[in-house]
Amino acid sequence: MKGGHAWVYRSDIAVHEDVPPGALVSLTDPRGQFLGTALYSSSSQIAIRMISRERVANLPALVAERIRAAISYRESVAANTNAYRVVFSEADFLPGLIVDRYHDVVLVQILTQGMDADPVRAAVVRTLAEALEPAGIVERVDGRIRDLEQLPPRKSELLWGEKTSTVITMNSGETTGGLADGVRFHYDGLEGQKTGAFLDQRENYAAAAQYGHGEALDVFCYQGGFALHLAAKCSNVTGVDSSRPALEMAEKNAALNGREMEWIEGNAFDLLKDYAAAKRHYDTIVLDPPAFAKTKRDLEKALRGYKELNLRALKMLRPGAILVTCSCSFHVGAQDFLETVSAAAADAHRPARILESRTQARDHPTLLNVPETSYLKCLIINVK
Ligand code: SAH
Repeated sequence: MKGGHAWVYRSDIAVHEDVPPGALVSLTDPRGQFLGTALYSSSSQIAIRMISRERVANLPALVAERIRAAISYRESVAANTNAYRVVFSEADFLPGLIVDRYHDVVLVQILTQGMDADPVRAAVVRTLAEALEPAGIVERVDGRIRDLEQLPPRKSELLWGEKTSTVITMNSGETTGGLADGVRFHYDGLEGQKTGAFLDQRENYAAAAQYGHGEALDVFCYQGGFALHLAAKCSNVTGVDSSRPALEMAEKNAALNGREMEWIEGNAFDLLKDYAAAKRHYDTIVLDPPAFAKTKRDLEKALRGYKELNLRALKMLRPGAILVTCSCSFHVGAQDFLETVSAAAADAHRPARILESRTQARDHPTLLNVPETSYLKCLIINVK
């Protein structure tokens, strides 16, 4: 915390009393000087998450006020979409709370003991219902995190209202990418991976559409986020993913937008190898793999994975082509990623320049001194 980080590890604190899980605690330095108020976790290695430099008497009221502030920030940065992240945990000073809005469905994810307390939950639901007036508020449970936090199991379910699925529209009015009417997606709060959609890529979809052209391949396409945006500019688009349910939804999304595209189920590494051997070529390739480095220990292996993918893709690109290459592994830093892609371009003997070096959409802000809140890298590269 001295360095400004909002977390303190268990090994760095002394707990003076029997503190219950999730309690609001006062932090003092070793001389007893007051440092601030924090949420305590009895099980996580991150024992302390700072919530205020002041004393806090009423946590539900503070949470409600911060949710309202988070909503008002999004009004300026998420004007061209009805799907965006409303609360991004630490970056909105609400550690352990994620809230997404998908048009008239709001999704809540609770990741810490402090945010799981009943009065806090009630304040979260009440504030969101009042401020956003959705047709439904769904809780999406991450069972692994609840286990780690020693919270009782829960199932994902409707918390308020009646609606759990909807249709969203993003990037409307993005004339540079040819997306005047935006792109529409089905959304189901109780289905799909993670929180159901990858909202952090929203601005990168529009950027990809700005440069994309010709024949395009969206590798790790999930439900078609990049592919459907590219369809506005490219002569044909193929999406590749290993998940059949994701591709079934991608197909429905294509129909929703009046597009016809090809979806291929397979392992991206094998498929790129086969396509390269078959001398297939593309004008635009997107690489958006899952996080290869879940922990610091995986870093070397992850970098080898990124290198291999980028190398294979670069070899298949036609002169003048566009590569949109992403990494969502926090443990792979922006510099590591850049060096890996550079090494791949050198090995492929393809001179290339960076058109844009991008990150997560602005509705996922980065909190200074909490580097964990910045995780997404997206390079848009033009290959000679
Ligand atoms: N680009 C997507 C998000 C991709 S998330 C979007 O913007 O919505 C990563 C995707 O990779 C998931 O859909 C997952 O099913 C898929 N995946 C994971 N391992 C894979 C593999 N080896 N080959 C192909 N797809 C894989």
